[in-house]
Amino acid sequence: MKSHSLHKLLGFTVSIVISLTAVAVGARDITPEQYQAAVDEAFEKYKDVDEGNNADYIPILTKTPGDLFGVVIATRDGKLYIAGEDKYEFSIQSVSKPFTASLIMARNGPRELREKIGVEPTGLPFNSRLAIELYDSRSQNPLVNAGAIAAVSLLEAESEEERWNLVHRNISDYAGRELSVIEEVYKSEYENVWGNRAIANLLKNYGRLYSDPEEALRVYTRQCSIGINTRDLAIMGATLANEGVNPFTSKKLLDREDVPELLAIMATAGFYDESGEWMYSAGLPAKTGVGGGIVAVVPGKFAIATFSAPLNEAGNSVRGMRAIRHIAGTLGVGLYGPNTEE
Ligand code: GLU
Repeated sequence: MKSHSLHKLLGFTVSIVISLTAVAVGARDITPEQYQAAVDEAFEKYKDVDEGNNADYIPILTKTPGDLFGVVIATRDGKLYIAGEDKYEFSIQSVSKPFTASLIMARNGPRELREKIGVEPTGLPFNSRLAIELYDSRSQNPLVNAGAIAAVSLLEAESEEERWNLVHRNISDYAGRELSVIEEVYKSEYENVWGNRAIANLLKNYGRLYSDPEEALRVYTRQCSIGINTRDLAIMGATLANEGVNPFTSKKLLDREDVPELLAIMATAGFYDESGEWMYSAGLPAKTGVGGGIVAVVPGKFAIATFSAPLNEAGNSVRGMRAIRHIAGTLGVGLYGPNTEE
């Protein structure tokens, strides 16, 4: 056999093996052992990473111990795989935003979310006032502060208490248990809420806030102060992976046909001005919070949640980002194919 034919044959065989491996990893059910190995490996690999800083513009967040680190997978068939810290309650912060966006979709419909808040990423920091001035939709999308404050204002409610109860009930239902506000976090943030107050007032000025601004601000700040642990967060994500039904309680929270739109917003805006970088390297819709939590969703399959307080410049948890990227790569579940760039 001529050498180039041999090369061709070898190349052909290699590509068959590669394709079969890809099919095997992509289509085969991931076994419990593989899930557990993936969370264990990600935990071990990044637990000693010593980069980033706790958020300090909400003073109490500087007190969260920086060494705590948890990685949890929750599957759509109701299984949990845990490595590291899964009991410590941290404030949900911005990870709450897609879940309140889901509440708007469920109560007001996806069209209202798009028309009254918007669905475009800003490419700017999460608390940008400039974005409100730059873009016609003003609030831009429900995952930045402006859009999230607009979202709580958009809920139809007779009183502040009713507005809060709707938000709180929904997030608790996503977690599958009654969650509480961490009052010290609420106090610490509300006493320093000048930037978000400016956002609420600007939105009101442009006719893009639908309740009293201070009421929306208080309900939004309480929403961000809800305490969750890594396990709760994984279950919340698994509810989106399970087409809007909490796999642990069987409670339906969002119509299955609205889940893709919500995941699309998470994919384009979940990491704020680092969303492009995140999709490039992890390929999964996700949401981060300055309390140190991140949740990523593998649609139709499972969710990965992490908790670690030290953040990078964009406000995203350093260990958490790395752990989720690593798991997505190991299990080959990036939406556009297995990502290889960590
Ligand atoms: N409550 C925080 C704020 O409004 C949330 C920010 C975040 O988690 O990204 O600034």
